[in-house]
Amino acid sequence: MEEIFVYCKTCQKKVKAMILTKHEKEYDKTTGSYKRLGIVRILQHTIGFRKNCEDTSQIKAIVESETKDSNGVMI
Ligand SMILES: [Zn+2]
Repeated sequence: MEEIFVYCKTCQKKVKAMILTKHEKEYDKTTGSYKRLGIVRILQHTIGFRKNCEDTSQIKAIVESETKDSNGVMI
């Protein structure tokens, strides 16, 4: 089971997600690098003291990339 970091669309936090499927590798002309999209499931995460974010949905995300943002999330 492979896990990556993504941004939660609901609370905007950097959260862990489990990779469910991986698509074909694609060349991104804007960054000049290769990346791979896939479907991930957001794992349950906290957003504060004793508060959980309810968003554990499946989303399309970058699961492999040569570039990361300043938080270490693949872009
Ligand atoms: Zn969230």
